[in-house]
Amino acid sequence: MAQVFCIANQKGGVGKTTTTVNLAAALALRGRRVLMIDLDPQGNGTTGCGVEKHMLDASVYELLLGLKTFEEVVRHSEAGFDVLPANRELSGAEVELVSFADRDLRLKKALSGVIGKYDYILIDCPPSLSMLTLNALCFADGVIIPMQCEYFALEGLTDLVGSVKRVHGDKNAGLRIISILRVMFDPRITLQQQVSEQLKKHFGAKVFDTVIPRNVRLAEAPSYGKPGVTYDRSSKGAKAYMAFADEILTRLEGGASQRKAERR
Ligand code: ADP
Ligand code: MG
Repeated sequence: MAQVFCIANQKGGVGKTTTTVNLAAALALRGRRVLMIDLDPQGNGTTGCGVEKHMLDASVYELLLGLKTFEEVVRHSEAGFDVLPANRELSGAEVELVSFADRDLRLKKALSGVIGKYDYILIDCPPSLSMLTLNALCFADGVIIPMQCEYFALEGLTDLVGSVKRVHGDKNAGLRIISILRVMFDPRITLQQQVSEQLKKHFGAKVFDTVIPRNVRLAEAPSYGKPGVTYDRSSKGAKAYMAFADEILTRLEGGASQRKAERR
């Protein structure tokens, strides 16, 4: 059964999509079977793994509304993982889902038949605590929160942690892991170092050891339809996301992570 993670933070531009796409590619490079779900109507995750969002026959929108099957929607990224793509159409789902009694379980139910096909399912969430994010939380085992080490970084975190706890209590007891990834880090900035240390002190083991640096190759990669880790494997950003994937594999699989064959 796949481990399901959603990558969430209700702020925009904090590195959710970059983290989702690169983690998907890095886990695929480590030989894992990965499905990436784009749950943001902006469709940046779809573009970022090389799927043309304006030319989709079907998207995750139709899957959520029960108009298409998983097989009709799923695509394969050249980066080595499967993708449930999204585009602007998905913004309509927010309203249309309200009429369903199981509105917050639509994603979980739509994927119940394929969860055994993958080792990891990663969900790129929109920048809000909306019905789409709720669908992700109701399906997930864990939440990864990408954070920039800035003064206001902790603002809003309380709301997100509150939502996670509510979902854990009411809807999804399996949602157990909350972890924080420090992203776009610039060690030359003293304030970032200070906030980073505060995060570590306050959240302890919930903060990943791996830190993702600010790296221009990661920002360039989406315009080539590639994750940073396959666009330029020797870049600092790519190496950091590979290290992040390895940290996750060690945390979740322990010694087993060494044994699986690598793809390349
Ligand atoms: P979100 O999905 O939270 O809105 P994105 O992943 O789209 O955030 O990132 C916002 C912007 O920052 C994008 O232009 C992206 O390319 C850039 N970016 C993300 N992570 C990094 C990084 N580590 N170094 C440099 N640029 C980054
Ligand atoms: Mg995004």
